Amino acid sequence: MIDYCSVNTNGLLLIEQALQLIKESVRPVIGNERVTLKQALGRVLSYPVLSPINIPQDRNSAMDGYAFCSSDMQKHHPSILSVVGTSWAGKPYPGNIGHNECIRIFTGAVVPDNADSVIMQEQIERDNNKIIFPADIATKQNIREIGGDINQNAELLPAHKKISAIDIGLLASAGIYDVSVKRKLNIAFFSTGDELCAIGQTLQSGQIYDSNRYILFGLLNDYNFNVSDLGVIADDKQQIKNTLLTAAKTQDVIITTGGASVGDADYIKEILEECGQVGFWKIAIKPGKPLAFGTINNCYFFGLPGNPVSVIATFQKIVAPALQLLTDMPGKRSLSLSATCLSELKKQKGRQEYQRGILTQSTSGELFVRSAGGQGSNIMSAMSKANCYIVLPVDSEGVLAGQIVTVEPFETFI
Ligand code: AMP
Ligand code: MG
Repeated sequence: MIDYCSVNTNGLLLIEQALQLIKESVRPVIGNERVTLKQALGRVLSYPVLSPINIPQDRNSAMDGYAFCSSDMQKHHPSILSVVGTSWAGKPYPGNIGHNECIRIFTGAVVPDNADSVIMQEQIERDNNKIIFPADIATKQNIREIGGDINQNAELLPAHKKISAIDIGLLASAGIYDVSVKRKLNIAFFSTGDELCAIGQTLQSGQIYDSNRYILFGLLNDYNFNVSDLGVIADDKQQIKNTLLTAAKTQDVIITTGGASVGDADYIKEILEECGQVGFWKIAIKPGKPLAFGTINNCYFFGLPGNPVSVIATFQKIVAPALQLLTDMPGKRSLSLSATCLSELKKQKGRQEYQRGILTQSTSGELFVRSAGGQGSNIMSAMSKANCYIVLPVDSEGVLAGQIVTVEPFETFI
């Protein structure tokens, strides 16, 4: 792997360089499997999916009303037609409509071949079996044409798309039972730290609850991976090393949190150097400077910082793009918007900051953002209140209230 660390004068890699390095070194996993629609949520399509049918397959009504032939309408006068039957959704009216006839029709019901218009039931008057159509009504309306949504053999979904709830609905509407998707990634994670206490136990003096594994569990859940939670490993170099080497035999990716820095109990980088290859180690972002990326045999490794807010930010900004490459989905980037900052934000030069913000929109559409609270990388309460990152570039020295800043709303990608 290329050592980009020399590129940046202060020894830190710019986030763009880190992402470029990930792009150059991460190869998509090989292997596909067929899964049913309900199992397909969050999976990545191996091939394009074509529609086996026209959707809709029949001309049908977009309204509850009356189907008729526009040639039966009088010019500039009301027209009176006889109702001769009904077309129900799922129970079509057999045959065509005769001269000066119409039929009752409901939404989704098949329109007789020779009818070219449907009028909404609210627009007519009914006198027993006579329907009075007002003068000059719009004709050739309210009919959904065959293939009006999708034509037979047209592409429903492209290859490499991550399947959403909406996509499942689209596939179901074409009657598709199963799809070919990329095999699931196997991802293991564990926390390191002597101070970590499992939830459900009483905190002893000096301990904190291990929140990182819950954060990672939640973030990874979005992708429908095979996730293994390997628990908490003490700050013990040999134990961490053994856990990594064992996991690397079966996993595509290992993610650890904590111990990635330069403290006396921080072993991650050392271990990666000893039993794998370091791709990069420090990135010029805040939160999240110490972040080790590399490989252990055929397994990709991410050693994230210990503080929970750093875990979230580095996962979203660095790990998620790598996981997308691994599962062969097209890289997406966060939607980036300009907003007026209502808070003064402090910052030092040297790292790109992702400060936690609350984005609002005025009734006239103007965007405003304010700080979500404490910006320490341990402050989860502000992270939880936030709905966006306020992105402050490397050379920024902070902003005053009233200045324009760049914001990235959470979970909005283009
Ligand atoms: P480290 O990178 O190991 O020095 O950890 C940095 C900070 O993150 C320390 O204050 C740790 O106590 C905290 N931390 C480490 N791991 C976790 C975790 N799993 N859950 C919550 N906080 C953690
Ligand atoms: Mg630690």
